[in-house]
Amino acid sequence: TPALEIKDLQKIYKGDFHALKGISLSVEQGDFFALLGPNGAGKSTSIGVITSLVNKTSGTVKVFGHDIDKELEKAKSFIGLVPQEFNFNQFESLMRILVNQAGYYGVERSVAVERAEKYLKQLDLWEKRDNAARMLSGGMKRRLMIARALMHEPKVLILDEPTAGVDIELRRSMWEFLRELNAQGITIILTTHYLEEAEMLCRNIAIIDSGQIVENTSMKQLLATL
Ligand code: ADP
Ligand code: ADP
Repeated sequence: TPALEIKDLQKIYKGDFHALKGISLSVEQGDFFALLGPNGAGKSTSIGVITSLVNKTSGTVKVFGHDIDKELEKAKSFIGLVPQEFNFNQFESLMRILVNQAGYYGVERSVAVERAEKYLKQLDLWEKRDNAARMLSGGMKRRLMIARALMHEPKVLILDEPTAGVDIELRRSMWEFLRELNAQGITIILTTHYLEEAEMLCRNIAIIDSGQIVENTSMKQLLATL
């Protein structure tokens, strides 16, 4: 079973804007996959549809074999999402944000606390654990979003432009963290508009432009043809 299988996905926004014009993709379990494309290409829309935050117009999405139209809760339980915007409660402590998140998924509290400690340490946020999230720098908030997405131990982590606006040094350490997660068996799908980022991290890639997939190949193949 692929981690993600998308067939003929279309999205027409209200006002008749055709953002996705029939996208098909398959991402294997354990893959590190990039959806690369310029601003406005349809990357965020694709992620929105996959995670059911955006209603699709037509097409199918399966997550580990579970169709989001038939088994939405099951499909969602496999996914950890790191959206672009910071959407946590800025006034809560990091620890509380992470433990609450696990709570939504029914993770037992003592397990949640242990898990939160692990990710706070791994992502270099441990010293800030009792601070309100609004006290964090942009790069720290980005890492908090990643930790939060991991709290229910998803099988696939989906990140929308995870390093946009992050300086190069921090970007490298985030890449390293994502590589380690992938090495542990988590499938990773990210969107980016930096070819360099896809090149550094990903095994397979799809290039999206104006709502269509214009290339879908291995990173190796792509680099050989450039
Ligand atoms: P990307 O993530 O690749 O930058 P998006 O998926 O955000 O692209 O956007 C794709 C296109 O859809 C853009 O032209 C954008 O303006 C349009 N779009 C995104 N959200 C909406 C919306 N809610 N209503 C109408 N158009 C939208
Ligand atoms: P910024 O002000 O650019 O957002 P931060 O204050 O958030 O930066 O980050 C400070 C430092 O944390 C960075 O120099 C980065 O190298 C370091 N760091 C150490 N480990 C990690 C990690 N696993 N993920 C991200 N950053 C890390």
